[in-house]
Amino acid sequence: MDRRTLLKYLSIGVAGTSLTTAVQSLASASGGTAAWGYTGSTGPSNWGSLDPAYAVCGSGTRQSPIALTNPIGVNFANDFSISYNSFSPTIKNTGKTIQVDCPSGSTLTLDGKIFDLIQFHFHAPSEHTINHQLGDGEVHAVHQRTDANGNVELAVIGRLIKGGYSSNSELAKIFNNLPQNSGGTTSPSVTFNLKKLFPSDGLLTGLLTPPPQYYRYSGSLTTPPCSEIVRWIVYEDMLQVSTSQIAQFTNLYSNNARPVQDDNDRLLLLD
Ligand SMILES: [Zn+2]
Repeated sequence: MDRRTLLKYLSIGVAGTSLTTAVQSLASASGGTAAWGYTGSTGPSNWGSLDPAYAVCGSGTRQSPIALTNPIGVNFANDFSISYNSFSPTIKNTGKTIQVDCPSGSTLTLDGKIFDLIQFHFHAPSEHTINHQLGDGEVHAVHQRTDANGNVELAVIGRLIKGGYSSNSELAKIFNNLPQNSGGTTSPSVTFNLKKLFPSDGLLTGLLTPPPQYYRYSGSLTTPPCSEIVRWIVYEDMLQVSTSQIAQFTNLYSNNARPVQDDNDRLLLLD
């Protein structure tokens, strides 16, 4: 299979109102539709039946997260690049997660298309597994673009988070300032750059450092309405943080992760 064919497999071009709904839902965590959560009768195994708008959560065939295992190895060096600006974050406790909305100007270039970084947020434990191992958490950077026909596409970069190491100073700018109550926000006097939570670019650290490896597959939002509109990138290397940093988050959200879904023999690449 050549590169062009692989990219065709990974590309997603879905038109229509479901996309608009998905992005609106993404932008406002509640969205005015049926309540959902992570336990009991409104938990992940029941999302598909809570609301007609969530049906694909139960019936979809390209759902996320998945177990990242047995990938096809490829060598698409420079398959994507990120250009993120530093900014002063306003940190939101949405009632489902901790989220930071990003000012315009930060971009992801993927498959020759430019996506705008719109927000990032966290899950605990991780949603994806890598070789069947869960992380203690996972960060998701959400990007979107609108094509020439007005259709919205999403691309999400995920990185699993593992505790038991030294404190991560960039993450501390967020986790030392978490709004404790649902609906709360904080605006600490810090300058944050999301790129510092991702692996170093091999090109920046010298030729002796191999570029970071990452998985790619086509999937969905991991929260209702679970729309199957996402180009996923997940780094193989976990972000190392301290045990107390994990606790800062899990004191608020210790279970806001959807379990892995059937991959239905989807193409999984490791580049
Ligand atoms: Zn997420």
